[in-house]
Amino acid sequence: MTSTQLSDTALADLREIADLELIEKLAEREHFSKDAFEYSPVLIPQLKDCLADVVVRPLTVNAVEAVAGVCFRHQLPLTMRGSGTGNYGQSVPLKGGLVMLMGALNQMLHYDSSTGVVTVQPGCFLRDLDQQLAQKGRQLRLMPSTWRTATVGGFIAGGSGGIGSVRWGFLRDPGHLLGMHMVAIDSEHKEQYLSALEAQALNHAYGTNGIITALKLSTAPAVQWHEVCIDCQTWADAVSLLKDCVGSAVDLHLCSLLERPIVDQLPKWCGSSAGQHRLLFLVAPDGVSTLEELAQKAGATFTLVGVERLSLAGLRELTWNHTTLHMRAADPAWTYLQMLLPQPELPAMEALKQQWGDNLLWHLEAVRQRGGTRLAALPLVRWQGLEALERLMEHCRQLGALIFNPHVITVEDGGLGVVDGDQVAAKHRHDPLGLLNPGKLKGWSAR
Ligand code: FAD
Repeated sequence: MTSTQLSDTALADLREIADLELIEKLAEREHFSKDAFEYSPVLIPQLKDCLADVVVRPLTVNAVEAVAGVCFRHQLPLTMRGSGTGNYGQSVPLKGGLVMLMGALNQMLHYDSSTGVVTVQPGCFLRDLDQQLAQKGRQLRLMPSTWRTATVGGFIAGGSGGIGSVRWGFLRDPGHLLGMHMVAIDSEHKEQYLSALEAQALNHAYGTNGIITALKLSTAPAVQWHEVCIDCQTWADAVSLLKDCVGSAVDLHLCSLLERPIVDQLPKWCGSSAGQHRLLFLVAPDGVSTLEELAQKAGATFTLVGVERLSLAGLRELTWNHTTLHMRAADPAWTYLQMLLPQPELPAMEALKQQWGDNLLWHLEAVRQRGGTRLAALPLVRWQGLEALERLMEHCRQLGALIFNPHVITVEDGGLGVVDGDQVAAKHRHDPLGLLNPGKLKGWSAR
C-alpha cells in the first residue's frame, strides 16, 4: 500500500497544536498501524505493510479540531483508532497519513439519573464505563467480548454487538445510540452535535465519515449475572435446549453454544471438558432454577458456575470472537466466519458439517433480531486457502445463511454488501475531501 509523505510544513503545523502528543518512532508507528486483522489469513498480506506517517494523541477536543484542520489544509489521510482490537483492519491506515489515538478522551461527561442515558467520550474503555454505570445501578446493554480493552468509540464505529445481543440485538438497532458529538474534516472543523437520527450514519462506518468526540447511549438496569454451563450429548439436543432456554421467561445476557472439540480447547475456567457440546449462559438470579429444570428435562448436565466476578476472566471471555481467540491460541491455523443461520437451523448446519467435517466447528450465539430470536454463528474454519474459504461461504449462502464476511476491509463487504446512502451522504458533509480512513467505504470510493 502506498504511503503519503508528510511534508515538513504539515509536521510543523501539527507540532504547534496544544495538547497534542506526536509519536514518530518507527516501532510505535508500526504498532499503531495494526489491529487484530491477523485472525484473517486473507487480510494479512493486504494490511501488514500499511504504515502511518505519524501517530497523534489529542488530549482535548480542541486538539482534535486542530488536527482535523491540519489534515484538511494539507489533504492528509486520517485514520481513527481506539484500542485497535478490530478484526477487519478498521483502524489500519491504508494510505498512510495520520493515525489518531482517542484513548486520552475517556471521561463520562453526563449521566441522566431519570433515564440512565450516559454521555461519554469515545476513548473510554467499555470496562471503565461499565464500572462507573454500576455505581449508579446501571450497566451497558451491549459490549464486545473485548470489553476490558476496547473503547466505546471503537465499538460504535467498528463493532456490531456481542454480550447482551440476546436481549438487545445489535448496535445499529434504533434506541442504542441516542446522539453524538463529532468533528468534521472541513474548513470549519468545529465540534457539532448530531441527533440520534443523524448519528446513525456514523454508527458502524469505521470512522470514515466523522470524528466521534462524544456518544450519548442508553443503558440497562444492572443485574448480577450468574454463570451457567449446560453440557449436552448430541448437537441436535443442544440446539433444541438453547431454543427452549432463550424462548422461556428468563432474563439472559448471553447464550452461546460450542461444539465439543472447541470445549476441549478452552481455558480451565470453563470447567473440565465432559466430552460434550456446551451451552454457556449469563442469566439473572431468578432464572437459574428455570435453566436447571429445562436442562434436567432435556437430560443435560447443569452446572452453576456462580455469580459473575468481573475482576476475573469469566464465561463471557469464552464467547463471541474470544472463542476464536482461544482456538487460535491452540492452533493458529483456525480462522472463522460470521453468519446468521437460516431457519430451521439444524438441516443447514448438518449439511455443512457433512461436507466440511472437522474443518468447520460450530459456535453459535443467540441474538435478538427485529424482536425475534435468531442464531448467529461464528464457526471456526480450518484455513485451507482462499478458494476453499470462498467455496465454503458459497455453500453457506446456498443453504440460506447470511454471511457477514470477516475477511474484507470495506464497511459494505463486511455487511450486507449494499451501499448505505446515508453513510456516503454523511461523508460528503463531514469529509468532503475523502480523508477519513480512506479505502474503507466502498460507496464513496465508487461514487
Ligand atoms: P478500534 O479497533 O481501534 O477501531 C474500530 C473502528 O472504529 C475503526 O474503524 C476506527 O477508525 C473507528 N474509530 C475508533 N474511534 C473512533 C472515533 N473516535 N471516531 C470515529 N471512528 C472511530 N466486536 C464486536 O462487535 N463484538 C464482539 O463480541 C467482538 N469480540 C471480539 C473478540 C476478539 C478476541 C477480538 C480480537 C475482537 C472482537 N471484536 C468484537 C472486535 C473489536 O474488539 C470490537 O468491535 C471493539 O469494540 C473495537 O473497539 P476498539 O477500541 O478496539 O476500536
